[in-house]
This record gives sequence, C-alpha cells and structure tokens, in this order.
Amino acid sequence: MRIFTVIHPTPFCNLDCTYCWAPDRSNTSKISLETLDTTLSQVYGGSALTGMDMLWLTGEPLVMGLQHFRDTVDLCRKRNRLDVQPQFVIQTNGTLIDEAWCEFFAENDFKVGVSVDGPAQIHDHQRRTKAGRPTFEKVERAIDLLTEYKIRGGAICVITSATLDQSPDDLFHFFYDRRITWTYLIESAIGEHEHSTLSSQDHPPTRLPAFISRLLDLWAEYPDSYIRDFDQATRRVFGGSRPAVNDDNLGCLDILNVSADGSFYWGNPELMSAIHGPLSHLKFNLSSDDVWKCRATPAFRHYQDEVHRGVERCREECQFFAGCQGGNPAHKYYEFESFDVAQHTTCQLNDQTIQTLMAEKILSTSEAQVTLSS
Ligand code: SF4
Repeated sequence: MRIFTVIHPTPFCNLDCTYCWAPDRSNTSKISLETLDTTLSQVYGGSALTGMDMLWLTGEPLVMGLQHFRDTVDLCRKRNRLDVQPQFVIQTNGTLIDEAWCEFFAENDFKVGVSVDGPAQIHDHQRRTKAGRPTFEKVERAIDLLTEYKIRGGAICVITSATLDQSPDDLFHFFYDRRITWTYLIESAIGEHEHSTLSSQDHPPTRLPAFISRLLDLWAEYPDSYIRDFDQATRRVFGGSRPAVNDDNLGCLDILNVSADGSFYWGNPELMSAIHGPLSHLKFNLSSDDVWKCRATPAFRHYQDEVHRGVERCREECQFFAGCQGGNPAHKYYEFESFDVAQHTTCQLNDQTIQTLMAEKILSTSEAQVTLSS
C-alpha cells in the first residue's frame, strides 16, 4: 500500500485569502519533532506499506523555518525502512521563498507547488496578507527563483467569480509564457469557506463554461502547455496511461493527515474542519492511537464503506464517470453531509463541463470535416 503523509505543521498562515477552507489560521502552534518522529516511526512500521510520499500543507508550511525542514527530512531518512525514497512535496503561498529555500529544495529534490491565481490584478484581489497587503510581487519573485533553481512542481490557481471578469487568455498566458504546469480549482463552499462566489451566481452559471471553453481552446492550440484538469480528463477518457480505478485512492483514504497537536485522520485534507466537528469520531491522536490500527476500527470501516458506495453511485449513475472516476469525497460531504452521493456542485461546474466541452469540440470538428469532404 502506497500512502501520502500530509503534515499540517502549523495552522498559522500569514495570508488571508478570500476562499480559504483551512481552520484556525491565526493559531501559531507548531508541530514538534517528537510528534513527527512518532508519525514516521508508526508509518514505516506498517507491514502493508510499500511506499510513502510526504506533503506539507496548511497553514503556510514555510513559517516553520528552514531548520525544521532539515530536521524533518533527516528524521524521515532515518526512519525509512523501504528501498524507495519518499517524494517530498510542499504546497506554499510562495511569499517566504528565497535563495536559501531554493537551495534546500534542490538538494532534497522537493517538488514545490505555489498557490498563485494568475496576473497581479486577480491574484491581489484574492490573495492578500492578514493586514490586507498585496502579495503578487513576492510570489512572482518566488516563481522566478524556483525556475532559476530548476525546482520541479507547478501552480494551483483558484477560479472565482472575479476570475471570470478577467480574460482567460491572460490567465492561460500567465502560466504558459513562464512554462509553468498548473491546475485550477473551482472555488467551492468547503471547510471554513461556507459561500462560493460561483455557486451564488445564476445556476448553472453561464460564464464559467465559456471561460473553461476558451482555456481548452488555448490548451489545444499550444500542445506543450499543461493544465492538469484537461490532461487528466483526456488521459482517462481517451486512454494513454489510464490508471486503474482505485476506490480508496479516489476517496483519498490513503492520505494520512497529521496536525501540529498530534491529531490525525485518513482522508482528504479539505475534510479538516469536519474532522474537528461532526466527523470527530474519525480523528485520532498519536499520543494514544496507532495510524494503522485506527483503520480497523468500526468508525473508519463505516466511513470507508460510505466513500466506496459514493464512488459506486457515480459509476452507476453518471455518464461522466470515465473522465472523473468518482469525484472528491470532501466536496460531496460538505454539500450533502454524506459521502454516499454522486453528483455535486463542483463536479457539475468542472468535471462535467470539461467533458461536455471536449465532446462538443470533437463533434464540431468532425462535422466540419464531413461538410468539407461532402
Ligand atoms: S462527474 Fe460528478 S457524478 Fe459524475 S462521476 Fe464525477 S463526481 Fe460522480
């Protein structure tokens, strides 16, 4: 079994983005090396483990400082009993990256994901400091440095109603001209973010499909561009390296989330708010629980069954299953308070829209060819 260990080293974040789903972002508590050591000892002690990759996520991981990361990577190498080394990945808002961080990332083969919402006018509208200051300049400088040091990774961009006021060409070229691989997230009402500017529009919104359609055209026009959502859907629908459907991975049940206070759970990182609330029966703590044994508890089994049933419903009920493969359980949960559902707002707005647009574009191309040849 291959897992992702997601460390949430501190709830604290130096920014206050308009759509953030992460809880408790003013709390400055930090994970201890002791807690990390317990995590790694338990993870590598699992007899079923065949591989583990490690991701640092919310709040802003870089506030932990460079020495903390050096110590954690050393610990990880010390505890690793497998032949395969973990891939280290960090998702950051980029504002704290400097040369020293880049040297560290390069030395330890980190993949770095930077959260950036496109050109300054849209980025600074959505991603400001707690004091309300813009952040684009710092993030652009971080991207330049990461490029200079040849650090692998990419960008995550959140599309909101405000994004749709901008030109999709500008957004596309912001990433393409810098040769940045990127993915976008549709702003969703999840976690601490209870209201999406997109779901409050006339429903179904008309502007989003037009925006995605133009991005698709540009993606097709520049074959060396990479937008994960489009590349992934294409591979799944049309073949290539299509992965076998794995219900646990789809449900993100192989993601172990560990927080600063030693609490942990298996599942989507975005479920964190629910885990501190109505799903608290799925929350465990390293001081008394084992990361593997908790997977055998009735509470976890029930949750696992429910996630699997949700994927089955998608498979049975949805014509878009091939390209989506069952959707994000966190989105299902926040919308319906259940994992045992199929369609939800975000899959309608994104997965279904992408596949519908792709089919329309293929049909219109083949119809044009039939007209030309007749
Ligand atoms: S598009 Fe929605 S309903 Fe269809 S498979 Fe994906 S999550 Fe399920």
